[in-house]
Amino acid sequence: MGDATLESPDPRRHAPSVAKLLDDARLRESISRVGRSIVKDTARVVQQAVRQGELAPEECVEAIIAAVPEHASSLRAVRNATGVIVHTNLGRAPLSQAAVDALVAAAGHTDVEMDLASARRAPRGRSTIAALRRAAPEAEEVHVVNNGAAALALAATALASGREILLSRGEFVEIGDGFRIPELLTSTGAEIHEVGTTNRTRLEDYARAVGPRTGFILKIHPSNFTVRGFTSDVGLADLATLGVPVVADIGSGLLVPDALLPDEPDVSTALNEGASLVIASADKLLGGPQAGLIFGSAAAVDALRRHPLARALRVDKLTLAALEATLAGPRTPVRQALELPLAELKERSTRFAEALRGHGIDAQVIPAEAVVGGGGAPGVALPSCAIALPSRLALPLRTGTPPVIGRVVRDRLLLDLRCVPQTDDELVLTAVVQAAVI
Ligand SMILES: *Cc1c(COP(=O)(O)O)cnc(C)c1O
Repeated sequence: MGDATLESPDPRRHAPSVAKLLDDARLRESISRVGRSIVKDTARVVQQAVRQGELAPEECVEAIIAAVPEHASSLRAVRNATGVIVHTNLGRAPLSQAAVDALVAAAGHTDVEMDLASARRAPRGRSTIAALRRAAPEAEEVHVVNNGAAALALAATALASGREILLSRGEFVEIGDGFRIPELLTSTGAEIHEVGTTNRTRLEDYARAVGPRTGFILKIHPSNFTVRGFTSDVGLADLATLGVPVVADIGSGLLVPDALLPDEPDVSTALNEGASLVIASADKLLGGPQAGLIFGSAAAVDALRRHPLARALRVDKLTLAALEATLAGPRTPVRQALELPLAELKERSTRFAEALRGHGIDAQVIPAEAVVGGGGAPGVALPSCAIALPSRLALPLRTGTPPVIGRVVRDRLLLDLRCVPQTDDELVLTAVVQAAVI
């Protein structure tokens, strides 16, 4: 019996050991690029394939090299064909190439807190702050923290801890994943004084609520819902007449009015109307890295910047670099997606669908609507178009390389190329063709 096995050895029994594979000189590059433990995990998977007879033992090393991921983080770059421009689950704003380059350049040692001429300590983020001040000249001072929520927490802590924040009942907002702004605010030790009703709040309601315990009035832009019908609310200009600080959380990060999104608030207008502080996210319509931007009067911004909590919310050098480059650099991908002419998108999509039909795939261009997404402009639909495909392609496309995310509507998978850089069309096309053969 032993003889029979010796005469026709089963290659499955000869899977090389993981230790032996890792010693192979051909894997040195992979090990130095992503680290030993990732290559080891990949080697185990490949070894298993040999044991199951799916791979010859001598093919192991090549198979490992092919299967080792490109980088050591398991976050995967995906193509956003959802037509949702600022998609929270897909990481909100994609950075411009200028911002990516700046971020990579800042990844090593940098002069983030040193003046190179004098070798003295210099204020962290000074050039990013200067860029923000140029972009929003109405602001006397600017400060940057980790995100919009951090900016709100800092404002509440520095200006209203142990005191009251006046907030309209129509602005009790949940921002996603179960996080609610009023709960965030009270977690700092501030109290919320509810004003008005869900659908109607008037200036008199605020005026009655103002008292010696008022820290500030908070005005939150409803960035992810709309209220329609019998409604009224109070603008910043009126709130600013009540003699207490007004903090405007505008959410979306527009710095100046935007003709494409006329109902979206912006930093300059909010400051001109009398807000003491304006809070916004940097990774929504501004198109930058995750950060919370605080604009306002010198006194109000200084109170926040010098509060001990500010140190716990400060941004890193990568964010500072990417944010500065976003402000100085070319049109961001978010702006490009927002401004893409429909005719151009239709032409691209038509070519795309034709190429797919050439591969025998059922593909039609249909009218669709794109949206800004979690970043703002709720209820605003941008006329768009999409390539309609059989919905069975959704899963293989999502899990393919690169993953392509579309939208399934009534049994069809819709791919809206608005947020896909045109230079990636070929890549996405190949991904669809591959998904169709699975
Ligand atoms: C997005 C948003 C926030 C939260 O900002 P993050 O940057 O996500 O922390 C707060 N308020 C409004 C109005 C928003 O739109």
